[in-house]
Amino acid sequence: MREISSLTLVLSDRCNFSCPYCPQQKGNNTLKIKDIRDFLDLLRTRLDREVWLGFYGGEPLLSWPLVKKTVAHAEKYFRNRFRFTLTTNGSLLEKQHILFFRKHHFELLLSYDGLAQKNRDAKSVAAVKRASDRLRRLYPDGYAINSVFTPKTVPLLAASMEALLRQGHSRLQYTLDACVPWKKTDLAILEKQLGRLMKICLRYRQKTGKTPLESLNLTDGKGIFTCSAGRDRLALLPDRTVWGCYLFYDLLGHSRQNPDYAKYCFGELEGFMAGLEKGFPAVTANYAELRQDFFFNEKKELCCLCDDLERCAVCPVVAALATGTLAVIPVWTCKLKKIARRVQGRPAAALSSPHRYRLEAQRKTGGANFNGD
Ligand code: SF4
Ligand code: SF4
Repeated sequence: MREISSLTLVLSDRCNFSCPYCPQQKGNNTLKIKDIRDFLDLLRTRLDREVWLGFYGGEPLLSWPLVKKTVAHAEKYFRNRFRFTLTTNGSLLEKQHILFFRKHHFELLLSYDGLAQKNRDAKSVAAVKRASDRLRRLYPDGYAINSVFTPKTVPLLAASMEALLRQGHSRLQYTLDACVPWKKTDLAILEKQLGRLMKICLRYRQKTGKTPLESLNLTDGKGIFTCSAGRDRLALLPDRTVWGCYLFYDLLGHSRQNPDYAKYCFGELEGFMAGLEKGFPAVTANYAELRQDFFFNEKKELCCLCDDLERCAVCPVVAALATGTLAVIPVWTCKLKKIARRVQGRPAAALSSPHRYRLEAQRKTGGANFNGD
């Protein structure tokens, strides 16, 4: 394991939403502040100079006292070592939260599906819109919005992003739900929608000088994608187990009898603390194999033979949520990737922006972007 540059605390598996595309299993597990303190203190000598500390759930605002206690501990004992991030569905976001986030320089990710929010949770539309307005007013530089689109909602993609821009939100991301099949007709709609979105982004760039779609800024640089789980990233889950990335818990955490559980779990907190000195060579070796050139799709086409290898990045867990096997990619994911690359590739140079620092932050903290672009 290298020096740790990203830690995720999944505070609880409770959520007040039941989004149709969410892979998490809900429950009543909640971390205690002692668990979090032990976890952070134990890793003290293994941390990089700057570490992203992410709060995640469930819905993390359901565990608000835990967020505040963790920040107090981190600031008292780790002297500016951490940069905080938090992902929220926004439904519980009040002024007091935003002022706290602003004071502690959080990078927030608001999960808000714009025009598709009614398909996600019809009752939440007004509350989340209100939260997004509050964020724009009180902490305009501190947040990005991520919208998820499925085959059912993809016809709304371009109009939804345009509406968010009109409302004054300037940092947008979109995610395609790659856990469900995309038919040929869905893919054709997606291609059209992305084409429209690129034109909207270009117009916005011409008018404001800013690039609103954060993925457009991440197209530079080629290389073979490697999953960073268990290399320089760890996650503490609400049942007190430690994994290389919180997504492994969604895939494996509820089936201990699955042989992959032992391959990727670092154990419960006590076991993790006891074993850290030796470094978990077997588990880290398993994580080290999660790289794009070792993956293949359901048709048994090897990524290492694909022309797009160095421009592709597929999260192996998101792929496995669809195929059932790590490193096996559903055929529609290849098609989604190719369409996004084709459409986004064209105006990327014209749209590239100087906001590297923030985008690096997104890259480091937002590894769960389903489309990986
Ligand atoms: S497009 Fe498909 S086959 Fe090619 S690298 Fe990406 S996932 Fe692998
Ligand atoms: S989000 Fe996916 S690719 Fe990124 S670290 Fe986690 S498992 Fe790996």
